[in-house]
Amino acid sequence: MGERWIAEAEDLKAAGASGVMEGGTPRVTLHVTVSKPGTFDAMHGVLTRAQAEPHILYDPATDRMGQYFPLDRSARALRNDGTRRTNGHGTVNIQVEVCALPVPAFTDVWKPGPNWVALLRAIRSWGVPDVWPAGRLAVNGSDNVDRSWGSYSKAGWFGHCNVPGNDHWDPGPINQRAVFSTPNLAPVEDDMPTPDDLWNATLVGPDGKFKARARDWLTYANDKAGNAARDAGAALAVVKALAAKPQGLTAQEIEDAAAAGAKAALEERIQSATTVLNVAPRETP
Ligand SMILES: [Zn+2]
Repeated sequence: MGERWIAEAEDLKAAGASGVMEGGTPRVTLHVTVSKPGTFDAMHGVLTRAQAEPHILYDPATDRMGQYFPLDRSARALRNDGTRRTNGHGTVNIQVEVCALPVPAFTDVWKPGPNWVALLRAIRSWGVPDVWPAGRLAVNGSDNVDRSWGSYSKAGWFGHCNVPGNDHWDPGPINQRAVFSTPNLAPVEDDMPTPDDLWNATLVGPDGKFKARARDWLTYANDKAGNAARDAGAALAVVKALAAKPQGLTAQEIEDAAAAGAKAALEERIQSATTVLNVAPRETP
């Protein structure tokens, strides 16, 4: 069992009813609405007023996608071939209306979006292969392309122009391979933390209990390091003063040496602290 409802699709209310599928092979029948891309709402109105709903309405201008019927029921976008059903032919006959004119071909201007990828996933879940068994698509209304039951009974993709008993020539001369390829949709690595994420991440202390944001940890650690540097600077300065005057220092000389050493160490710290704190959180665009 494939996907009956596509999770990414808007739930469009059909005016007409769906029917049972008669079995056989799985297929897609592709249409264009003969309107410019960007006409999703208008075409929704046209299709429901005519009760000629497909399964899927897709707008290549916006990647907007809606669904009228579960994919394992018949849709309403095809005329029957006399008494022989076309909409109900196959295990599935997934009808896709793309909001586009037949010329220029929508594949010339279109960049498939995530919803097109979701549609391909759902179509393939029914075992529809990435092939066009009837061959090429009509380039105009008088182009004699394959409309035989022999071809239309095979598994794969067809244009409305390939459906027996129908005289529409859509979807036009689209690039038939392009509908299967989604080169612009390589998965985006979106799990890299931004500087802001890192700066505001909550860290747990060594005791497993104390928690603080990374920026607060850094400030705290910097203060501690500053204190240590200050004290080490003071001690070192006293030792150096003693070495220079082995006979001994007065209390005032010790105090002065320590203060100068601490000051020098802190100034050095301020330099490095400034460097550290210059890694300021950046606004994410
Ligand atoms: Zn059509």
